[in-house]
Amino acid sequence: MGQGWAFVNGAYCPPEEATISVFDIGFTHSDVAYDVTSVWKGRFFRLDDHVERFLRSCAGFRLGCPYSKDEIKSILAACVAEGGVEDAAYVAMVVTRGKYSEAGERERDIRQTEATFIAYATPYVWIANPEKQEQGLHIIVGKTPHIPDACVDARFKNYHWGDLTQARLEAADVGADSAVLLTTDGRLSEGPGFNLFFIDGGRLMTPARNALEGITRQTVFDLAGEMAVPVEAGDYPPDRLREADEAFLCSTAGGIMPVVRVDERVLGNGVPGPITSRLRGLYWSKREAGWLGTPVGDLL
Ligand code: PLP
Repeated sequence: MGQGWAFVNGAYCPPEEATISVFDIGFTHSDVAYDVTSVWKGRFFRLDDHVERFLRSCAGFRLGCPYSKDEIKSILAACVAEGGVEDAAYVAMVVTRGKYSEAGERERDIRQTEATFIAYATPYVWIANPEKQEQGLHIIVGKTPHIPDACVDARFKNYHWGDLTQARLEAADVGADSAVLLTTDGRLSEGPGFNLFFIDGGRLMTPARNALEGITRQTVFDLAGEMAVPVEAGDYPPDRLREADEAFLCSTAGGIMPVVRVDERVLGNGVPGPITSRLRGLYWSKREAGWLGTPVGDLL
C-alpha cells in the first residue's frame, strides 16, 4: 500500500512536502474549517455528506472555499489514487483563512486574506485499532469542559482542539484510552475525534448539543433504524453514561468503537456489549458491500 498524496494551493505533492506558511492565519489563530472522509476497499463512504458538511463548516466560519463540491471530490479522488491508498484511506479537506493579501496586511483587515486549500489522503487512521476495539476502551469523563457552541460552534468542524487535547492528556495521565468532555453546564458532549453513544434498557442515546453532527453518528441512527433499536439525541448528565449497560464512540477514524469502562465504572460484563457489537458488525459488513459508497475510480 502507498503512503498517500496531497494537494496544497493548486499543486499535488507527496504528504511530507505538503506545507503552508507560518504566517497563515490557519496556523497562527486556528482559523480553519475541515472535514475527513474515508475510503474502504476502493469506495468513499458518504462522500457527498462529508463535502456538504465541509462547505457548511466553511460558511459557518465565513471562510471562502476556492473549489466547488465536484472539484473537491475530484481532488480527493486523485489524492487517493495517486497515493495508492484505495484499500483503506483517511481523506481530509481543509480551508484555512490563509495569509493577508498585500492590502489586507497593511490594514490588518481580516476580510482581505487569501484562503489556503489543502487536501490529502493517507493510510486509514484508527482512533482505536481493531484489536483494542475487540477488548473495548476505557474512557474518562474529562475535567476540561468543551468550548461552548456560543464561542466556537461544534457543528462546524474546526481546529480549536485546545480543550480536546487537554482531555486526551488527562486520559493518558490515568492510563485511559480517551476522554469524553462535558458542556460548561455539566452535560455529556463529545470527545477528541468522536461522538458518544450509550445504551440503557435497549435504547440508544447520544448527546444532542455542543457536538459535531457526525456522519458516523448519522450512520448509527440509520443502522439502529434497520435493527429496530430506539434511538434518541438528548441532554444527559455523566452518571447516565457511567450507569449505562453499553457505550461506544463513533468516528470516521475507526467506525464504532466499544467502551467497557468509564472512569472507575465497568459497563455490563466488561466486554463489548451485544447491541454495540451488532452495530459494529453491520457497519463494516455494509461498508464492505459498498453501502453509501462512491468508487474512487468514478471520480477520476
Ligand atoms: N466530534 C469531533 C470533535 C470530531 O473531530 C469527529 C471526527 O471526526 C467526530 C465527532 C466524528 O465525526 P464523523 O463521524 O463525521 O467522523
